[in-house]
Amino acid sequence: MTGRRLGIMGGTFDPIHHGHLVAASEVAHLFSLDEVVFVPTGQAWHKGEREVTAAEDRYLMTVIATASNPRFSVSRIDIDRPGPTYTIDTLREMRALHGPDTELFFITGSDALAKMLTWRNAEDMFGYAHFVGCTRPGHRLADPGLPDGRVSLVEVPALSISSTECRDRIRAGEPIWYLVPDGIVQYINKRGLYRGAPA
Ligand code: ATP
Ligand code: MG
Repeated sequence: MTGRRLGIMGGTFDPIHHGHLVAASEVAHLFSLDEVVFVPTGQAWHKGEREVTAAEDRYLMTVIATASNPRFSVSRIDIDRPGPTYTIDTLREMRALHGPDTELFFITGSDALAKMLTWRNAEDMFGYAHFVGCTRPGHRLADPGLPDGRVSLVEVPALSISSTECRDRIRAGEPIWYLVPDGIVQYINKRGLYRGAPA
């Protein structure tokens, strides 16, 4: 198949929420993507300050949340690669898996995009994929200095949902219904996730 357009949505997904899903759906529509692959991180190098939920739980939640969308899928490449997850490795592996005829679109929140220039191999990354930064309430992108032509910024319907807020709400005994898909509320309850004290 030629000219396939593939979105990559990387994230910790601890837990996945409707902000992630709306952003992926909106970018898929705007950029005519054939598929969006959600790629949960293994050990996220930049989240060392807190205990991240087991990769298998985050992976399963991502599968549950995306299962009903025929254009969404989930990849284990970052979970199965030993060591910390670096986006450059994700992009290299995706490129190798999908070949030169597939155009890659890396979907990210604009908060994460602004940090990317500080990442290892930041310049190389833009050679592997077109980057799409989604604006997100509270994270205005101020002169990010990103390379011309390799980055687009899009506005997604304002969703001020974050995984941090979901975790905090669960810990405080507040509901997360409708911030995340129903199956995720049920999975979190079944596994007793996020109930403990913050790490
Ligand atoms: P945390 O609060 O733990 O940082 P998060 O909600 O930012 O979690 P991540 O798994 O860190 O979720 O995010 C994965 C990607 O999704 C990042 O690129 C992030 O910027 C983006 N993202 C997260 N929430 C939203 C949202 N509400 N709208 C658009 N993009 C989002
Ligand atoms: Mg985040």
